[in-house]
Amino acid sequence: MSAGPPPAAKPCPICGKPALERYRPFCGKRCADVDLARWFSGVYVVPGAETDEDNPGTSEDEPPRRDS
Ligand SMILES: [Zn+2]
Repeated sequence: MSAGPPPAAKPCPICGKPALERYRPFCGKRCADVDLARWFSGVYVVPGAETDEDNPGTSEDEPPRRDS
């Protein structure tokens, strides 16, 4: 019996939850959208869009609340 540890699924880089294969490396469409928005904000400078990048190295921060 040489069953090794199960393959560790990479956590969602946005919220740290286990990623879903469908949305990997994110846990869901919500976080995928958040990352996409961040990516776009870095490429296309949107007037009025505020980007808080105090801790660019951490992945523990929660995504912004957006009820749409
Ligand atoms: Zn997530």
